[in-house]
Amino acid sequence: MAVKARSQSAKSPDIPAVPVSSDLEVRIRKRYPNPEGTFSVNVHFRALAGFTVIFGASGAGKTTLLDCIAGVTKPDEGRIFVGGEELFDSEKKRNLPAWERRVGYVQQDLALFPHLTAEENVAYGLRGLSGAEKNYRSGEIMSRFRIDRLRDRKPSQISGGERQRVALARALILEPRVLLLDEPLAALDRPAKSSLVNDLRKWNQNHRIPILFVTHNGEEVFALGNEVIILDSGKIAAQGLPHEVMRAPRLETIAQLSGFENIFDATVVALHETRGTLTCRLGKSEVELETPLVRADTGTRLRVGMRAGDLLLATEKPQGLSARNILSGTIQRIEQRDVIISAAVDCGGVEFEVHLTLAARDFLNLAPGKQVWVVGKTHSCHLMGI
Ligand code: ADP
Repeated sequence: MAVKARSQSAKSPDIPAVPVSSDLEVRIRKRYPNPEGTFSVNVHFRALAGFTVIFGASGAGKTTLLDCIAGVTKPDEGRIFVGGEELFDSEKKRNLPAWERRVGYVQQDLALFPHLTAEENVAYGLRGLSGAEKNYRSGEIMSRFRIDRLRDRKPSQISGGERQRVALARALILEPRVLLLDEPLAALDRPAKSSLVNDLRKWNQNHRIPILFVTHNGEEVFALGNEVIILDSGKIAAQGLPHEVMRAPRLETIAQLSGFENIFDATVVALHETRGTLTCRLGKSEVELETPLVRADTGTRLRVGMRAGDLLLATEKPQGLSARNILSGTIQRIEQRDVIISAAVDCGGVEFEVHLTLAARDFLNLAPGKQVWVVGKTHSCHLMGI
């Protein structure tokens, strides 16, 4: 098999050289008429061996895309290739059935069989093999994913993280050519997430298949640090490494998707090398934020992203606080979204969105027109290039 290093793989340090034949190429269009108008996924991309993160808000079309690749949903038109083999080609009327595609798909609900043990779930798709061979293979993959001690337990008797591992092992035991993971880490805490991703990376050092990893969590995009495709209303808004994508022209959408409810145009007005900070002025206002130091000169234009949940509100000017950013403002609006209160606060012509609990709203007696102070730590200010 010809093996050659590809220019894109050079960007991802964990993929030294990629067999060309493992690439996934997708060029599809899928329309869904619905009451609000037609929703359509219309994408063209290539994913090499290793992780490609598909990132987008809820409803962006991520699951539809995976369903099309897996063969669960039929695109209206286009082509899907893995390693040069056609899985789907609308012109040639070729549509390989899901079970012949060798595409591993771990869906959000995991779909484990509740009446089967972990081992029986893992070995479920192995057909035509002797019992001994099945045992050997399931034992091997279960030990690789550290779930061998759970062999005899039913899904209801293991944790959420362990169920994820069982579902993953069940997909991988079939030696797929592509792996699709739909929000695989959503229910896991941070250590469990990174341990699962590490085990999967290790497994893929030998297998070198493209892994599409769907998430709507911006932090995961940065934590994985791999090629990312930003999906917005069914279209690819940007593709590249996380830091490149953050500099893409449609920054607002991307930054919002990344979880920054507050995004401001800013200009560097002072550098404080000794305390490791910058002063940035927001837009055309007089409002200044102290942000972490980056390599920049005064006059440099950049953007500052702040998560609404990282900001605090005070009803009196705070004293003796370590946070450097304390801005006086007036509440414009207060909205309840599920169990979160979102307050829009005008600070000298700049509007900040701040998220609070219901208890905090009542305790502070917050209402439109009330004077408040918005408090943010230096390290809650995330700088982005323009
Ligand atoms: P995501 O996974 O990014 O949350 P989905 O792919 O699940 O997004 O859905 C994107 C949009 O596609 C939905 O908002 C809906 O309008 C449409 N859609 C998905 N599946 C169907 C379906 N079976 N029938 C009609 N519309 C659908």
